[in-house]
Amino acid sequence: MPVYEYICSSCGHPFDKMVRFSDTTPDTSCPKCKSTDTHKRLSRIAYSSYTSANLSGGSCGSSGSGFS
Ligand SMILES: [Zn+2]
Repeated sequence: MPVYEYICSSCGHPFDKMVRFSDTTPDTSCPKCKSTDTHKRLSRIAYSSYTSANLSGGSCGSSGSGFS
């Protein structure tokens, strides 16, 4: 199940959302302010819980900068 990163346009709160393939209309409202004015972040598409634990590796990236 892919995990997408969304960011709230209203309060700027970033959050992860697991989206089922069968779910064509996932609830992507902001968990903080309940705004539906959110958009998908494209920097990191999936496996956010894994990449956060594997940042020490960094063998596939050309540099350590870019994403923060
Ligand atoms: Zn919000």
